[in-house]
Amino acid sequence: MKALAKLHKEKGIWLTECDIPEVGHNDLLIKIHKTAICGTDMHIYNWDEWSQKTIPVPMVIGHEYVGEVVDLGQEVRGFTIGDRVSGEGHITCGYCRNCRAGRRHLCRNTTGVGVNRQGAFAEYLVIPAFNAFKIPHNISSDLAAIFDPFGNAVHTALSFDLVGEDVLITGAGPIGIMAAAVAKHVGARNVVITDVNEFRLTLARKMGVTRAINANQTSLKEVMNDLGMTEGFDVGLEMSGVPSALRDMLAHMNNGGKIAMLGIPAGDVAIDWTKVIFKGLTIKGIYGREMFETWYKMASLVQSGLDLNPIITHQFSIDEFQQGFETMGSGQSGKVILNW
Ligand code: NAD
Ligand code: ZN
Repeated sequence: MKALAKLHKEKGIWLTECDIPEVGHNDLLIKIHKTAICGTDMHIYNWDEWSQKTIPVPMVIGHEYVGEVVDLGQEVRGFTIGDRVSGEGHITCGYCRNCRAGRRHLCRNTTGVGVNRQGAFAEYLVIPAFNAFKIPHNISSDLAAIFDPFGNAVHTALSFDLVGEDVLITGAGPIGIMAAAVAKHVGARNVVITDVNEFRLTLARKMGVTRAINANQTSLKEVMNDLGMTEGFDVGLEMSGVPSALRDMLAHMNNGGKIAMLGIPAGDVAIDWTKVIFKGLTIKGIYGREMFETWYKMASLVQSGLDLNPIITHQFSIDEFQQGFETMGSGQSGKVILNW
């Protein structure tokens, strides 16, 4: 089968041929229809420090996908050939304390599809049936292909009550923008999103945020005045991984505010901890998606009218993968889909 793999320990990704993976007793074999490029895939493409430490070579990468079940192991229940599925990319152990308590997203032994085991940028993918999620008929394959990052957005955004609240999101990458759309959809009052990239701020405006502001040009204080907010933000979603964005957020939270942190900083970050202490802030780290509550919420959000379509800005065929990676790397895109 055709697959996109990291074949060499240098910048790049290569279209190659490899064997169709074997289907274990508890597995599904999925024929891939569409995949999307994640920031993680860009790290691997660029062969940065993290990927040099993490990715064994050769490795078929990718973990955002939708496809169709074409074969199943003999122990599998609840799926049939022809089911349209996406899947949770974190494969959990099932025996650690958190797994046994149903908190699979906190598994200590997680392995990642397309990171530590063969990924979805291929004609076929094998995953445990446990990890698959059936896509309801009224959700498009394009949206299903981005359920993994949409799940990051939903997990983060729904960590705290947003109804009637003023929400600050730092980082208008695809995940930040989707989180902003979720916040608006579930009834936040003001949703302010910041970035330093005009393309992305424009995209955020298309998705219906209250204000999308360039952090280098407009201060949060000005926006708050403009919106008649006298006290501060109730909920913060940190989705940039940039230290100055987190510091800015801490400075503009109301007392008792709640922050969910998804963005991954490149190294240590120093903050003024007195802001956390004297404001009585709650800070929660977010990893992945809740299994599988986040997945059900995602489907329901789309079915209840959340329109995510503008976040998909580019579509390429798999033979144009190079252009796909370059587009994703340019910063002038939302989600980029590769059609298999
Ligand atoms: P992304 O890199 O596309 O988005 C980050 C955005 O932050 C970019 O648009 C960038 O221009 C913007 N930014 C840069 N400087 C800024 C500043 N000073 N203020 C505000 N914004 C600024 O990434 P993404 O795919 O949308 O993911 C968002 C973050 O979440 C990334 O850090 C990613 O690594 C992380 N992530 C975490 C998990 C997890 O499970 N915790 C999963 C996926 C992604
Ligand atoms: Zn576990």
